[in-house]
Amino acid sequence: MHHHTLLVHAGRETSAAAHSVSPPLVRTSTTVFATLEDYKQAQRGQVFDAPRYGRSGTSTTFELQRAMAALAGTEACIATSCGLSAITAVLAAHAGPGRHILLSDGVYGPTRVFCEKDLAPSGTTVEFFSHGADIATLLRGNTSLVFIETPASLTMEMLDVRAICTAAHGRGVPVACDATWGTPLFFDAHQLGIDISVHAATKFINGHSDLLLGLCTGTSEALSPVRAYCDRSGAHAAPDTCWLALRGLRTLAARLARHQASALTLARWLQAQSAVQRVRFPALQTDPGFELWRSQFSGAAGPFTVDLAPCSEAAFSRFINGLSLFSLGTSWGGFESLVMPAVPHHLRALAAPEDAPRLVRLHIGLEDPADLCDDLHSALRRMHQGEDAAT
Ligand SMILES: *Cc1c(COP(=O)(O)O)cnc(C)c1O
Repeated sequence: MHHHTLLVHAGRETSAAAHSVSPPLVRTSTTVFATLEDYKQAQRGQVFDAPRYGRSGTSTTFELQRAMAALAGTEACIATSCGLSAITAVLAAHAGPGRHILLSDGVYGPTRVFCEKDLAPSGTTVEFFSHGADIATLLRGNTSLVFIETPASLTMEMLDVRAICTAAHGRGVPVACDATWGTPLFFDAHQLGIDISVHAATKFINGHSDLLLGLCTGTSEALSPVRAYCDRSGAHAAPDTCWLALRGLRTLAARLARHQASALTLARWLQAQSAVQRVRFPALQTDPGFELWRSQFSGAAGPFTVDLAPCSEAAFSRFINGLSLFSLGTSWGGFESLVMPAVPHHLRALAAPEDAPRLVRLHIGLEDPADLCDDLHSALRRMHQGEDAAT
């Protein structure tokens, strides 16, 4: 089945019993069993989407997990409390004294912080590689995981996912990828070779800026250490959150198409502005990552990063504060447009971006792009007007 059809029909197995279009929201702390035999069977935990205990999910959780696994074209999915907990569960499940984990330099800032503050002190060797590196030369006998994110958080460089997976698999090393930006609709992670695909469903998948949720997809075998870690650490998601995310999922394709069209319109408009040095958006033909994007992604809904020409702190404030439709805030993927100053060099161990002192990340929401363009235009004008007055 195609994505659009799956989005409508997947994750509704338990609807029939409730005589309802959407699956019932089942909240419980305790899962109860009819017989001792059923109880023993459940506690063996062999079936991925069967209730065992409230913490590991209810039928609502399993509906979302099944829908997401179907969308990702794989067997299984685990829902966790937020995107970051999905990432840390994947990392922690593969970490341990004497093990080596390789990560791309462009991973989400908190992913890096977890590796440095939690994994490294307990004996895992953590190594970051830059986006052009040949990882075949970096893999070691004790490498237990390659963890990547593409495009890079904030700086938007692309990775050659196929080449990375081929090199890692050649040494028997699994590859995990934070695929939040692409979503399963625009980035077929497992088909490219990724073993574990991680999503902050907080972003586009839910799309309504009203929850935090993480999802990992892969084969039952690839996910089995992650699931065991979630069981031990209690990282699982709440059923209410899963129910809302399933509702968000129904409109994902329709929302992404609009986010994509508006993001491209605004990115192209920004490229033509004199205050803009560069727009980092791999879906633009002028972007250095365009060819890799085109060969690995089927779409791009943003967010993207804009390098504003160097300017004073006051002018930069006038720009940010001059925006009225773009709210100032971290996160993205919701219905509303957002702006955030991007400070990637604080998040990187390697390759601080050379010039660009004023990076801003934009998430283009579902508003009318003409209004968003007017908003950016007037904020850029205010930024320069202030500059003139000062000189
Ligand atoms: C937001 C985000 C996360 C973290 O998700 P939370 O649900 O906020 O914990 C992880 N990776 C990427 C790429 C993100 O944008």
